[in-house]
Amino acid sequence: MISVKNSRELELMRSACRIAANALALAGEHVKPGVTTWKIDRIAHQYILSQGARPSFLGHDGFPASACISVNSEVIHGIPSKERTLKQGDIVSVDLGARFGGFHGDNAATFAVGAVSDQARRLMDTTRDSLFDGIKKACAGGRIGDISAAVGQRAESDGFSVVRSFVGHGVGRQLHEAPEVPNFGEPGRGARLVNGMTIAIEPMINAGGYQVKILPDGWTVVTEDGSLSAHFEHTVAVRGDSPEILTTPG
Ligand code: MG
Repeated sequence: MISVKNSRELELMRSACRIAANALALAGEHVKPGVTTWKIDRIAHQYILSQGARPSFLGHDGFPASACISVNSEVIHGIPSKERTLKQGDIVSVDLGARFGGFHGDNAATFAVGAVSDQARRLMDTTRDSLFDGIKKACAGGRIGDISAAVGQRAESDGFSVVRSFVGHGVGRQLHEAPEVPNFGEPGRGARLVNGMTIAIEPMINAGGYQVKILPDGWTVVTEDGSLSAHFEHTVAVRGDSPEILTTPG
């Protein structure tokens, strides 16, 4: 069932999402050569706790950290590690959520470690652009497929491919709620968008093929062909013709 949030619930969502957005921005400031992914996770974790919130991902389905940190060919669900030191030229996807007042905020971004290749830069730019193309379609009266198609078209017209086996989702009292929000599809299809729906739109875009596999750690999703992958995500509320990005720092 798709949950619709009333104005009081949306206000709580805004608070949770602001904390998640601030944590992500703080994590991004620490993405530098020589820093471990463990350290970045700890910084985000401490910030979320300092705001009286809880890290949404910690313990979710048994995930062992507060942020998923995925480097280069890792798509999503990378486990932060003291053994993983970032180096110049890496691209680093940080995905994290915060639970506050009974609601979750969920967001992600890919950060560059110093100067990166042209391909990496284009992939990151396209993935972010595809997210915003999708957000523009999150209007009451439309359909989930309008969002999916907008994201997918942007990614593919720029020569990249869309991960198909992982998708965006509704978000609210649960981290993952109905409906699914794929990053590919056809306009006019899928659930109807109504005021008060809150959804996480999260394109995962690969420089090579769309196929992915899960590493033996049971979590880390990587591109099958070893190509780079990028990931951007916002939690968005449907509000008439003006989608509201809830995961905004402040
Ligand atoms: Mg998400």
